[in-house]
Amino acid sequence: MTAKNSQVTWHDGRVTPEDRRRLFRQRPVTIWLTGLSASGKSTLAYELEHQLISSGRPCLALDGDNVRHGLNADLGFSPAARRENVRRIAEVAKLFNEAGLIVITAFISPNRDDRDAAKRIIGEQRFLEIFLDAPLEVCEARDPKGLYRKARAGEVSEFTGISAPYERPEYPDMVLRTDLLDASQAAAKVMARLEAGFFIIASDRTRRA
Ligand code: ADP
Repeated sequence: MTAKNSQVTWHDGRVTPEDRRRLFRQRPVTIWLTGLSASGKSTLAYELEHQLISSGRPCLALDGDNVRHGLNADLGFSPAARRENVRRIAEVAKLFNEAGLIVITAFISPNRDDRDAAKRIIGEQRFLEIFLDAPLEVCEARDPKGLYRKARAGEVSEFTGISAPYERPEYPDMVLRTDLLDASQAAAKVMARLEAGFFIIASDRTRRA
């Protein structure tokens, strides 16, 4: 999206992305977790955030519910509102990546087009789409907030998986079967992927842990 006001001009600073990479000793990336409600996105996001911070790596987890309390408090769950929700989150993730941090987002983000738009905003080179693939029955049985029960009773409208669609990623960077893996096993796979992609350096982790 471009600025609506033609008097707004872009100012470049003197600090380069390379300066930030050297300072933080990592390559910023956005780990975009997508999947049904209760598939384990927040759990994994906070586990990854904990592991990264514990090993001295600046990062931030952005969680769907939390963002809807503040930045996106004005948005509902219609397709247009979900699209705007994802767009704002992507812009925030991009800013934190530009600051040099690793970002982990935990949003259902059910629409393929919206996730693709997020990827374009953040940049393909630093976007990892990770699909938390747990069957609906498993997510529904977990139902920690009772939302599936309410959705089945018609008390919550446009609920993903019940009364609103979830479009599975076609070419995700990684699929995690969170019905078969626990959160620490899933986190270990993501950490290995970050090392393999040279976003973080393995020896760094052991040295600083
Ligand atoms: P989401 O953010 O996708 O809505 P949550 O992270 O809140 O999902 O997890 C939903 C529930 O499932 C919680 O009760 C959590 O303890 C449990 N859970 C999360 N990840 C796993 C996992 N990998 N294996 C088993 N249970 C999990």
